[in-house]
Amino acid sequence: LFLSLEGVDGVGKSTQAEHLRAFFEAQDRTVVITREPGGTALGVQIRRMLLHGDDVSPRAEALLYAADRAHHVATVIRPALEAGHVVISDRYIDSSLAYQAGGRELSQADIRELSEFATGGLWPQRTYVLDMSFEASRARLTGEPDRLESAGSAFFERTREAFLRLARQDARRCRVIDASQSVEDVWAQIHADVEQLS
Ligand code: C5P
Repeated sequence: LFLSLEGVDGVGKSTQAEHLRAFFEAQDRTVVITREPGGTALGVQIRRMLLHGDDVSPRAEALLYAADRAHHVATVIRPALEAGHVVISDRYIDSSLAYQAGGRELSQADIRELSEFATGGLWPQRTYVLDMSFEASRARLTGEPDRLESAGSAFFERTREAFLRLARQDARRCRVIDASQSVEDVWAQIHADVEQLS
């Protein structure tokens, strides 16, 4: 079973990933929680370049995310799925469609094609899109903002809208959850859904 958590920064994806872990471990399933960018050693280097390095032009940025994902799928996600594990990825293809196509305004078709190439067409069975307003998500972020977190509200809104549009377009796979609710209420919604999946 392959699940992904999506949404803009500060919506609580990693907290919900831990709830999902506990849920599946209680059923004696082995759970692999991973993330993009940075789910592999190579990915950690790519993440550093993307978030804390010099400016990266939009197409170069899209290719670096794709390179991170290609290696991540080949060395972490596919082997874990083949071993029968539950894989939960904090961000996946939808992040590229939302940030690089929505936010950076590259072509959606190009990002889709690039993602298909990177992953060999591997999509999650279920994607939870955690949705929140700009103000609410900013209030939740702590520490020094990275390059993306200091981007303005217009970029944020394009990205958020892109996530919501993607979820509407692929309503079989995606579930949109209002992430301004309490952690427990967000989990209750995910729980009700994931119970039917597993
Ligand atoms: O969620 P996490 O903090 O790991 O994301 C790292 C940063 O990379 C975030 O600021 C996110 O906005 C950005 N990002 C991006 N395009 C992606 C994935 C993440 O711009 N495809």
